[in-house]
This record gives sequence, C-alpha cells and structure tokens, in this order.
Amino acid sequence: MRKVVEQFDLALLQKEGRGYILNARNDVKRLHRAGCEAVGAMVSTAYPKVFFEQLDEALKWLDAEYGKSGWLSCGFCYPNPPSLDPKDFGF
Ligand SMILES: [Zn+2]
Repeated sequence: MRKVVEQFDLALLQKEGRGYILNARNDVKRLHRAGCEAVGAMVSTAYPKVFFEQLDEALKWLDAEYGKSGWLSCGFCYPNPPSLDPKDFGF
C-alpha cells in the first residue's frame, strides 16, 4: 500500500491497470480497480489516492482504517465482486 503522489504516477498505474486505487475523499471512500475510468484525476490538494497491489491487502487496510461499512466499492468496475465459490451457492 502506498500513496499516489502525482498525476504522472496515477497515469502509469492506470495504464498498467494492475492493482487497486482508493479515492479517500472526506465524504466517501471508494475503492476502484486501477484501470477504472471513474478514479478521476490526481488533484493532491483535493483528497489522497492510495494504491494497493492486491485486493486482500486493500480490504484488510480499508476495514482496519474505516470499518467494514466505512467505505464503498465502485459500482462501475466492481473491485470486490461477490465470491464465485460454488459452495456459497449451496452446491
Ligand atoms: Zn471504479
């Protein structure tokens, strides 16, 4: 986990499209896939963005920092889809 420092840094992460980016706004903290268009521009004075390489790393950090209901997943890129494990469907 690390902070995204500037627009160029963000552009590289988005181009590569691996990992996850948190928009840590005051009103809502929202997790995106790195390549998501809804991540928006890097305006360091507005609010921080945080980059995570792995989803489980992101989830652990978010739950510890904001609580399980203190943050949201992007409804556009679905960074944290529900489990597709067949046993969750009762098979
Ligand atoms: Zn997104």
